[in-house]
Order: sequence, then C-alpha cells, then structure tokens
Amino acid sequence: MSSNEILKVLDLKKHFRVRGSLTKKVKAVDGVTFSIEVGETLGVVGESGCGKTTLGRLVLRLIEPTSGRIIFDNKDVTKAKGRDLREYWRNAQMVFQDPHTSLDPRMTIASILLEPIRYYNLKVGDEEEFLVKQMELVGLGREHLYRYPHELSGGQKQRVAILRAIITKPKFVVLDEPTSSLDVSVQAQILELLKDLQRKFNLAYMFISHDISVVKYMSRRMAVMYLGKIVELGASDDVFEKPYHPYSKFLLAAVPIPDPKIARSKTKVLIKGEPPSPINPPAGCRFHPRCPYAIEICRKQEPPLLEIENKHYAACWLYHKK
Ligand code: SF4
Repeated sequence: MSSNEILKVLDLKKHFRVRGSLTKKVKAVDGVTFSIEVGETLGVVGESGCGKTTLGRLVLRLIEPTSGRIIFDNKDVTKAKGRDLREYWRNAQMVFQDPHTSLDPRMTIASILLEPIRYYNLKVGDEEEFLVKQMELVGLGREHLYRYPHELSGGQKQRVAILRAIITKPKFVVLDEPTSSLDVSVQAQILELLKDLQRKFNLAYMFISHDISVVKYMSRRMAVMYLGKIVELGASDDVFEKPYHPYSKFLLAAVPIPDPKIARSKTKVLIKGEPPSPINPPAGCRFHPRCPYAIEICRKQEPPLLEIENKHYAACWLYHKK
C-alpha cells in the first residue's frame, strides 16, 4: 500500500447463491482490484446490474465478501469485527441514492444527526450548538433541526444524509448515485456541495453512478464496470477522451454532445441487447456477445485488466499481446 492510499481492494468477490438452487450463483462482483488515495475521488460507472452498488457495500463491509481483501488506512478490515469494525465504520461512511428512504421518517433531523454521535460516543460539547454549526456546512440552519424528513425538500434531505455521513469525521465516503433521485436543478448544487466538503475535510470518495459525464465531473480517476468486473480504469480525462474498451465507448456514445459538429464519430460504438445475466456470465470476455469487435480469443479466454499506457488500464484482447 503506497503511503498516500487510504483504501486498497484486492481481488474482491461477492457471489450470491440463487434462491432455490444449490449450485447457481450470481457473480455480482467477480475479482475487483483498485485503490483510492487520500482526498481523491474514484468514480465507478456502469449500467444498472453491473455490480457497482454491491461493490460499494462490500467495500464498507455492509455485506460480507466471498473472497478478496479490503485494506483501509494500512489495516486489513476484511474480517474486522466488534470494536475494529465500528472504528472502520466511523472512518468509512456511505450516502445512499434515495434520501426519501434513507432517513427515518419518525425522527427529527436533530435526532438523525445525533444518532451516530451517540453511537460512537463522540464528545461534541453543547449538542444543539454543535448541530447548528454542522448544518451550516451543508447549507442548512437551526430552523431545519427540529423538522421531520417529510418537511424538507429532496435536496435538503440529501444534504442531511450527506451531513449524517460526514458528522463522525470519516476519511472515506461511498456515494451511491447521490443525485440520481433529485431534480436536475438540485443535482448540480449537491455535486458542488460534495466537492466543497471534500476540499474542506480532505475526504476520499468512491462515486458510483450510471452517468459517465457526472462521474467525469466528480472524479480524478474512473473505473468502468461490466458484469461484476472492472473493464477499464484510468484518469477520468483519459477514459473520456481516449476510451479503449468497446463498452466504455458505448457508454460515451450515449452522452449528449452540445455541438453536433463534434460528434464522436471515431469512438461511436453501437451495441445491441441488454447485459447478459450475471448468474451465468458468458465464457471468455463477458462483453463478447454484444461486442462488434469480438475476435476468436474473446469467446474463449477472459482478458486481464492490463496497463495500456500511463496508468490507463483495459481488459480487452484488442490491446493485449495474445
Ligand atoms: Fe470486445 Fe474482445 Fe475486447 Fe471483449 S476482449 S471487449 S469481446 S474485442
């Protein structure tokens, strides 16, 4: 682990048993390796069902990995229990997609925010004054403290959810589609808030989204996931401007371009069909049934994720020596 890495994930897997079957398994996450540096955002992008949300939950130990390792701040937390797991959770938090369901409707905002403070036994002095100062960090005030979630707008609720995640002063936060349930006009404000909090507290983020342009805006590096695997990983600018993997090109082709004269004709890839089932992923490259460039080896052998150039990695036989 390099001195600046806050998180390192090694060959992480989660295979869920299919109900009613002793042998069939959903390979939701199937051998994922990456790291995140202190204060950095790694974006994770892919279609729904690619395993990105499961990956976020696995990294935080909200679900148990089938195999692999999770190293946080130089400590192996893969099997952490009791006090060690609590300490990990104090330092590694999550913001969920839908603030309408992630906040308990029977609790006031003050009670929601005090819950983690009391759980971790943190000393904050006068609780109300502490909460007012914290609320200011996310653009809310004293007047919101004693309201219930249903009395707030969607954007205000997500501000509370973000504050609840950072109130214990974590070093790392998983953001799972934090703006996708919000109105377009509010989304940009929440993204700016997240960037502002990152600068203030030197937070590391794992930013999960199906929208590659939002991921590029938020992240220094991005990982593209397909059927439980990372198929491309690199600096967000590099992946956006010069994608290697045909699936990344497909995701980029769906991004609206403001000027039609600058159509991405060179990278435009039209892909048919839906992703196959992760219960029985295709042999070889999992993308081969949808890939317009598939060659013989793609049907037989899984391509490894290898560096093509300048810390830009892709899992595609088109770029590897066979
Ligand atoms: Fe397409 Fe083959 Fe590359 Fe997979 S390995 S993305 S099938 S060209």
